[in-house]
Amino acid sequence: MWVYLNDHFVPEEEAKISIFDHGFLYGDGLFETVRAYSGRIFALPEHMDRLSRSADRLEIPLPPPASLETLLYETLRRNHLKNAVLRLTITRGEARGGLVPDSDPKTRTTMVITPRLFDGHPADYYENGVTASIVSVRRNAPDALDPALKSLSFLNNVMAKMEAKKRGAFEGIFLSLEGCLSEGTTSNLFWVRDGVIKTPSVKSSILEGITRGVVIGLAKGMGISLKEGNYPPEDLLDAEEAFLTNTGLELMPLTGVNGKKIGTGLPGGMTIKLHQAFKALVATGDGGKFLVKTWGTPSP
Ligand code: PLP
Repeated sequence: MWVYLNDHFVPEEEAKISIFDHGFLYGDGLFETVRAYSGRIFALPEHMDRLSRSADRLEIPLPPPASLETLLYETLRRNHLKNAVLRLTITRGEARGGLVPDSDPKTRTTMVITPRLFDGHPADYYENGVTASIVSVRRNAPDALDPALKSLSFLNNVMAKMEAKKRGAFEGIFLSLEGCLSEGTTSNLFWVRDGVIKTPSVKSSILEGITRGVVIGLAKGMGISLKEGNYPPEDLLDAEEAFLTNTGLELMPLTGVNGKKIGTGLPGGMTIKLHQAFKALVATGDGGKFLVKTWGTPSP
């Protein structure tokens, strides 16, 4: 595969970064994961928007979104990929002299784009659903390391995923420091109770997933009632159905949690209906059309 590294496309075996890179030393950087369907990247402006807001907060200089978009498409073209996942990684770059080195004109952002062929998860995952485990590791608090930043500091997520894996679960579900349902290690969480879809609000220590925003927009457009809030774990344990969302999963039915069935233990009707609507939206290529932008305006 050809990868992009600081102004050049190089074969992946030749891509090297400095041992003094702040991303390597301190997890000082950001990333985005986007998905291409038939050569078209889904909700690309929304991904770029999230990245540039995070880069602003961390004071990491970012090339204009339009040039990033061009590079992502060029990565697809060079690798003859139509259905793929692309990861864009940006770090503060190579710098010596501590956590916040004096500004040096030679220091520049490290930027990497790595592609991989991706045709979706196996069909039986969607037919049977996957399982999750509520892990003991709590989600980072927003006023410590804000989960709204898609930061390279991913140790919180890695530890939670290790715990879930040891318990034989597909995904680990975080609780916030306050003990409310938060999100998966790499996914957002939705469930249904009494016909109402529920999802943790932006005040529950989550990354505002792009897929989450699209799903909320779709549900509203379809007249399905959906509530965002701070919910205790029992809400999920007693749910009628549940699903996880992210760029790669789309909507993945969640049919078991903590070794117990959710609802009948099969994918629920609401999940199936919304996933069909999501796939129809992908087919139109109009990813951001239904995106509910809540960034910076926490819902109650
Ligand atoms: N939450 C976390 C912690 C994630 O890492 C991700 C994606 O990797 C998501 C949620 C879902 O985000 P998106 O729908 O933008 O892929």
